[in-house]
Amino acid sequence: MLAFIRTKGRYTILAILGLVLAVLIVSGYALFASPNYSRLNFMQRFVVREVMGKWAKQVQALPEEKRVLVDYDHLLAGLNFIEKNLVQQILAINPKELGFQGPFHSLEKPVNLVKIAPWTYKRDGQQKSTGSQYCPAAAYNDYLKMMAQMRRDLGRELCIESGYRSPGFQAFNFLRYLVMNHDFSLMRAARLNALPGYSEHQDPVNNALDFINAEGINGDCPQTPEDFERLPEYQWLLKHAHKFNFHLSYPRDNQLGISFEPWHWHWQQPGSGNLATDTK
Ligand SMILES: [Zn+2]
Repeated sequence: MLAFIRTKGRYTILAILGLVLAVLIVSGYALFASPNYSRLNFMQRFVVREVMGKWAKQVQALPEEKRVLVDYDHLLAGLNFIEKNLVQQILAINPKELGFQGPFHSLEKPVNLVKIAPWTYKRDGQQKSTGSQYCPAAAYNDYLKMMAQMRRDLGRELCIESGYRSPGFQAFNFLRYLVMNHDFSLMRAARLNALPGYSEHQDPVNNALDFINAEGINGDCPQTPEDFERLPEYQWLLKHAHKFNFHLSYPRDNQLGISFEPWHWHWQQPGSGNLATDTK
């Protein structure tokens, strides 16, 4: 009887060990498998969520004016081996494989960035802020001239919600959207957020600006691009922005694999070649 119980106990321990081993093998395989572009697997979803939690804290801990300039290596330094491995795998994907057709811009920091003080506005009864933003000087000067004209014509103006972004901040944004808005689909995230180096917000000279109006309309979720499209400010930009070297990068049904972004305008140095992607 005793021998039977001992044998049974041994089998039970072996079964538990076998189960633990199987779980470890499956989890390990899921962790180190190449990311699926349509949806990350269960282990990768868990790790990316952990990374997002850490990065959000790291960015929040920086002085307010340093957040959009956060260093990529600083973000990586806070991750363990498994987290770092997955993030580097994701950011090494060629964006063309995710359906993004835009060019590579740069990972270098522009030399002549102008600091733009935070702009506060009220939306849904809450006080909000754009936070400090940055923009290369030439683009900023044209923005100021363009707004002076818009004020004369319409009595309205647009503020800069996003200008230059460091590769670290672009990576942070990509993961944030991947986790929060795109259900862990790399392909869907790439339609709204370029991977680091591929955003017009990272070009050292021909930088892009995202605009927000005085009432806090920027077309971002839960608003829609059509909310921004309906603004008189947007209609004015369509007619006049090119005179100030700003061009709409992502019109509806553009060929670059990017969603319609009526708030996103690309400043292009006069004579810098055929950079315009809009048809206007
Ligand atoms: Zn933009």
